[in-house]
Amino acid sequence: MTEDSRSRELAAALAATRKRIAAAEAAAGRAPGSARLMIVTKFFPAEDLARLVLLGAGEFGENREPEAGRKVAQVRTELPGADFTMDMIGSVQRKKARTIARWARRVQSVDSVELTEALATAATKALDDGHRTTPLGVLLQISLDGDPARGGVVAEQLPALAEQVRSHDGALSLDGLMVIAPLHGQAAEHLAHAQRIADDFRRDHPEAVELSSGMSGDLETAVEFGSTCVRVGTAIMGPRPLVSP
Ligand SMILES: *Cc1c(COP(=O)(O)O)cnc(C)c1O
Repeated sequence: MTEDSRSRELAAALAATRKRIAAAEAAAGRAPGSARLMIVTKFFPAEDLARLVLLGAGEFGENREPEAGRKVAQVRTELPGADFTMDMIGSVQRKKARTIARWARRVQSVDSVELTEALATAATKALDDGHRTTPLGVLLQISLDGDPARGGVVAEQLPALAEQVRSHDGALSLDGLMVIAPLHGQAAEHLAHAQRIADDFRRDHPEAVELSSGMSGDLETAVEFGSTCVRVGTAIMGPRPLVSP
């Protein structure tokens, strides 16, 4: 595949995905743009991230460090001044908090007191060192089925974790919640449940406006149930290669 044909392929997939989101917003009676697209570039090279930035995409997610940090650095070097953000959406080892705090707009997968402390320390340092200029955004990851393997905390644990994040005002900002729908059962039931949890949560934390939910396969359902950020990989990038580049 030539360079140009990959860009054309990404442009077509990006347009088709934007159309799906717009149709879902309209069907749900939601304002255009109220569900934003985050493109998940994991397992694809920095060149694809650069192509998408040049095509006008602005919000990205990655799930592994140091691969994520390397890609961001490469694109920032190749396209100086390019306007894009990268969120961390995968589970985070505490020892990687320091580098993640340098490039991530937000960490969407915060699910423990220990990780919150590590991110607060890391964000404070990144601010002091000039690696970032704004607090590190935090989304608390909800677990709908309590399965520890998939990460997240059950709804009962959210208030304490939220207080903890807010105690680091200045270093961290509590932006909302993230959910990965369990594979078993109906996506609509899971996503409706997540929306109820988010509605409750916002009563205590009105600033926490984000609900990151929905992926390539279920984004319409997620938009129906209040998603503000759909995380789309396969539908734009194509099937993931077996080996990370
Ligand atoms: C990979 C990934 C996605 C994207 O999934 P697709 O089905 O490829 O769209 C979304 N969210 C998280 C947390 C992921 O790891």
